[in-house]
Amino acid sequence: MSNLTSPFAGGAGRISVIGAGTMGNGIAHVFAQAGFAVQLIDSNPSQLQRALDTINKNLDRQVGKGSITEDQKKNTLSNISIVADIATGVKNANLIVEAATENVALKLEIFRQLDLHAPAGCILATNTSSISITKIAAITKRPELVIGMHFMNPVPVMKLVEIINGYATKKEVTDTIIDLSRQLGKIPCAVNDYPGFIANRILMPMINEAIYSLFEGVAGVEEIDTVMKLGMAHPMGPLQLADFIGLDTCLSILKVLQDGFGNPKYAPCPLLVNMVMAEKLGVKTGEGFYTYTAGSKELVVSKSFR
Ligand code: NAD
Repeated sequence: MSNLTSPFAGGAGRISVIGAGTMGNGIAHVFAQAGFAVQLIDSNPSQLQRALDTINKNLDRQVGKGSITEDQKKNTLSNISIVADIATGVKNANLIVEAATENVALKLEIFRQLDLHAPAGCILATNTSSISITKIAAITKRPELVIGMHFMNPVPVMKLVEIINGYATKKEVTDTIIDLSRQLGKIPCAVNDYPGFIANRILMPMINEAIYSLFEGVAGVEEIDTVMKLGMAHPMGPLQLADFIGLDTCLSILKVLQDGFGNPKYAPCPLLVNMVMAEKLGVKTGEGFYTYTAGSKELVVSKSFR
């Protein structure tokens, strides 16, 4: 149910999305489909074109399933513009959702720039999986307007948005973002700002343990994923899920948990570290625990994962 006092009621308001990778293209997609004007920004221009192609393909799938019409697809695409430069892309924004690479130094630099170039009153949200909202907020002069808006992958499909209150986040901002998430057809869930929040504090140790089980030779990729799918009714096994999330992103999140709690139980498995160094990042590079060609998935033949 939409709150009529929200500045975003009825699709009003301009949204800028920083980062056009796995998450950024999905976030742009759902805002544009809900009628918002979206500026999609990425420092790598080829990512912007790739994002538009992905959004187009995902909208085609929705049309094919009958969940949207051709006209709705056209309107969604016409609501999205792309730009490489942050200063230009955020100058008229009412809300910015940052979805750039999971790296603390990079996000701090991006938020320093956002604070400089975004209009006064613009809410600065981050889609970070694990980095402290309070730390990101502290680099700006508007910490009360900084909040976590953590979408799940794939964004057009997954209902949950984890809303993370930083130490200084104003209640009005939390209420606005909760209301806006509902406007996008999502189900918001508010949590407080500690490493990994709720989703990744619980998910990442499970994924890490699955990688350790492979590393120690307890079972192969397929067996591990099958046990978790059929035994625990998970729709996808943890190793395939890691491929979808991106192994670099999983590694970054585990390091945030390890540093944030100072507890060795979060130490990333050496196999995960090796795979990231070898640039086997999962779906986005075409190979992780499985290979991905033209939309299909194949098991990487149990080549020496050890
Ligand atoms: P990704 O690697 O697919 O995309 C990151 C994008 O950021 C790239 O296109 C890159 O060019 C761009 N980028 C890097 N530096 C930039 C800058 N200075 N300015 C503008 N763009 C820049 O990463 P992703 O998986 O989309 O993750 C993005 C964020 O979302 C991360 O914080 C991640 O933790 C979070 N997240 C990821 C998932 C997931 O399943 N992948 C789920 C929830 C949240």
